[in-house]
Amino acid sequence: MSQPETDLNVAIAKADTPLHAYNEILTLLGEMEKFVSINDRIFVKINLNTPEGFPVNTSFALIKSLIKSCKKAGASEISLGSYSSKGVKIRNIDQLLKINEIVMPLGAQLLYLEEDSESELLDIIQNCDKFFVVNQVNVDPLFDCTLSMMNSAEINILNSQESTEHDLEGDFYKKEMVSKLLSIYKKRKPDLIINDLYHVMEGAGPYIYKDSNLIETQLMVGGTDPVAVDFVTLKLMGKNPLENPLIIGACERNIGNTDNINIIGVDLESSKVNINYCEKILEDITVHNCSIKTGSTCSGCYHIAYHLLNIMKTYMTKDLKYITRQSVLIGENPPEPDLNKNVILFGNCAIKSTENSSFRTIYTSKESIPLSDKIKSIFNKGKKPNKKLKTIEKPNKQVLNIPGCPPNLNSTIKLISNYYGKQQGPNLYLYYNLMETYASTSNKKAKKGGV
Ligand code: SF4
Repeated sequence: MSQPETDLNVAIAKADTPLHAYNEILTLLGEMEKFVSINDRIFVKINLNTPEGFPVNTSFALIKSLIKSCKKAGASEISLGSYSSKGVKIRNIDQLLKINEIVMPLGAQLLYLEEDSESELLDIIQNCDKFFVVNQVNVDPLFDCTLSMMNSAEINILNSQESTEHDLEGDFYKKEMVSKLLSIYKKRKPDLIINDLYHVMEGAGPYIYKDSNLIETQLMVGGTDPVAVDFVTLKLMGKNPLENPLIIGACERNIGNTDNINIIGVDLESSKVNINYCEKILEDITVHNCSIKTGSTCSGCYHIAYHLLNIMKTYMTKDLKYITRQSVLIGENPPEPDLNKNVILFGNCAIKSTENSSFRTIYTSKESIPLSDKIKSIFNKGKKPNKKLKTIEKPNKQVLNIPGCPPNLNSTIKLISNYYGKQQGPNLYLYYNLMETYASTSNKKAKKGGV
């Protein structure tokens, strides 16, 4: 029985290969000719975040197929674009992943989007004829999964130097993130959205961490309404979309709709998959030789600390054998650390609220002879002076303050690497310096005008 065609058609495909699933999505939605007219200039927003590649970045097998179908439908120009993320400006990612070598022979090109350049992206999408989003779905600590509505804005962490009670209680950070992520779609919605969940990184994500695990769901979702496509994706992944802040925010801003969604393709209920989501409780992220203690924490410190702890777990395995014990204290009024050594105070709330905590001061006692006894012993040579115990107070130097509201991830790694040094933290030192070298090479290239 043929389905009625509405703007809220959302196609779900399940197939034995990702390309078969993609072709099935196009067939269900009415082939690429429905979306592309002759001589259209097309911009495709993809995920291109890290040099690790797929499954953090969009699958290039899928991108190649999309380019071919756009060309076949008559597109004259196809550009792909993405921001760099993870705190590092990865401008030469194309050379690393050889992206233009893959897409140029097919008649497409990769565009580079500057950091903090919503205006650049807006300019591109407002001037192209068709705007498509091909989004790789993985688990995400803040929004459950990397939805298509997260794809169009740079997920750069918002940092400020000062924290206020308003920030903490009102979860200002999350509200700002939702607003930033939805700002592009508020101005122009995509003409076609594909959520690729054929392979999903579950557990720790959305980057490749020690606790990440790739699963094959064989599913893909497509449509023209970002809210409807993300709504169905969340349902397939076993989440209640009406509790997702991005879905709620998008509905409030009239970006899309959750009513009258018309699902075509495979049955949603029988296709649902079980996914292990990101750890919501930071204390439950087990990092070797590290005790994690949280007080009242908003999404800002949760988000950055989540990545920090996963980076420690992934890249500091050898270091944490040498360090033997560290405590990471996060949020307002965290519990006292287990030991007074290697205490990392993460964020302004943790630093400020522990100013008078006992671990901030080290008390040592030393035997000493009071001056009056020393003088007496000079005149009374036969009498030994009495030694008394004297308590000395010193600020605990084994406390590392990481300021920020929330702290910047790159600066945090730098501070921790400097604190432990090359001897105690060789893996973290290497990780940080590789990222720095990579970023500075990229910046030099950018200054020379190269890509
Ligand atoms: S310091 Fe961290 S927990 Fe406190 S308000 Fe800022 S982001 Fe939130």
